[in-house]
Amino acid sequence: MAWTISLLCITWALSVQSAPIDERRHRVLLVSFDGFRWDYDRDVDTPNLDKMAADGVKAQYVTPPYLTITSPTHFTLLTGRYIENHGVIHNMWFNTTTQEKKPYYQTQFVNQWWDNGSLPIWITAQRQGLKAGSIHFPGTAASYNGEVASIQEVEPLLYNYKNETAWRENTDKVMSWFRDQDLDFVSMYFGEPDGTGHRYGPDSPQIKEMVKQVDRTVGYIRHMAEQRGLTDSLNIIITSDHGMSNVYRNGLVEEITLSKIPGFSFRDLSFHIVDFGPSGMLLPKPGKLEKVYTALKNAHPHLHVYKKEEMPEHLHFAKNDRILPIILWSDPGYVINGYFPVQFHNGEHGFDNQEMDMKPFFRAVGPSFHKNLEVGPFETVNIYSLMCHILGIKPEVNDGHLDNVKHMLVTSTTERGIQVNVLQNTFTGVAAVAGFLVVVFVLMTSHAVIKNKRKKDKTSENSKQIPETEFTKQTSF
Ligand SMILES: [Zn+2]
Repeated sequence: MAWTISLLCITWALSVQSAPIDERRHRVLLVSFDGFRWDYDRDVDTPNLDKMAADGVKAQYVTPPYLTITSPTHFTLLTGRYIENHGVIHNMWFNTTTQEKKPYYQTQFVNQWWDNGSLPIWITAQRQGLKAGSIHFPGTAASYNGEVASIQEVEPLLYNYKNETAWRENTDKVMSWFRDQDLDFVSMYFGEPDGTGHRYGPDSPQIKEMVKQVDRTVGYIRHMAEQRGLTDSLNIIITSDHGMSNVYRNGLVEEITLSKIPGFSFRDLSFHIVDFGPSGMLLPKPGKLEKVYTALKNAHPHLHVYKKEEMPEHLHFAKNDRILPIILWSDPGYVINGYFPVQFHNGEHGFDNQEMDMKPFFRAVGPSFHKNLEVGPFETVNIYSLMCHILGIKPEVNDGHLDNVKHMLVTSTTERGIQVNVLQNTFTGVAAVAGFLVVVFVLMTSHAVIKNKRKKDKTSENSKQIPETEFTKQTSF
């Protein structure tokens, strides 16, 4: 009887120490609204974004990695690596030998463009026993080491990224993945307000309407999470890949057109990417690098020209073979034209990530986050560490640091899958000590009883049935 009680005590103490993950597990929904600039809510009524800030954490703004375009910056969110390190250096797959380029959508399906050794969080989570899904998030269509998110949905080629009804249907779908399929992590992508920002510009009435649509959707996401009973376990992080800036032309500014620059010729290049907003990359023919560089450097007061190895450190955009030897970007207001102006957007991104117009917004709400907390800016490269920490998974090698973002969290994770707070720690400690004391007491009492019994009945060899050594072993843990 005494043994049974002591064993029960030990079992109980052990069970407290390693309570099932499910009861305390925290999940993550990562949402990206493409091109949502940090200050888009300034002069628009956004009750749902305001409520999310009151119920959770709002960052003043966040800094994306350079190059500030969609696929590269999204892959930084998923991997915690700067673009030069994860290798998805552009929206477009290209081959400098064959001159081939694939646009954004087709590039989504080119595995070798995405799979360069940096694993997206879905794969890491799945390898550590969690379940992950993704809908429309850049990078979803590719496989990594032959692995994909266990639930993945890629939009069709001709997809209306603005359709609010589809936004709600996708939200419903994601909530059912969490609720009915027990997913731990989902990344979800909306293609706006980027499209509207490009077409009408970031100060247009149209962008204000789209910001209201985003706000309604944020309200819907939170409402559905509550409806599905997920509020206590689900953390919702809402951010973006880059901002948006006005482009000027038609005589308002002196446009940048490379073919008009004295001493520069496209004949000196083997390959180039220009007419892509404010950014460009050039591969000069053998022996022509200095000529091309000298012609372009200082050719226009708003055109920045760098050799790859001289790129400013803060951009983290040099140390990758895919990055071409000469890199160009323009100041806000300007785009880089090749032979002649063919770009007609009123808004663009792709500028230096230090420009305020390139900064995205950030909101987070859920059981892991403080309430009504506004924090200073941080780099989006850190969001990966934050998500791994909340999920209780060991991150891959990455360029972010939990220290930069952990002040947003109310809990700390000591080891995989065990979310603990101070109270739980104390309780576990007390339980373990109590269990130990009970065991010691039982051991001493039993020992006395045995001694007594042995004295009384020296002929009995039944002490074999009392596994003294085994018991002693158990108490020494
Ligand atoms: Zn984008």
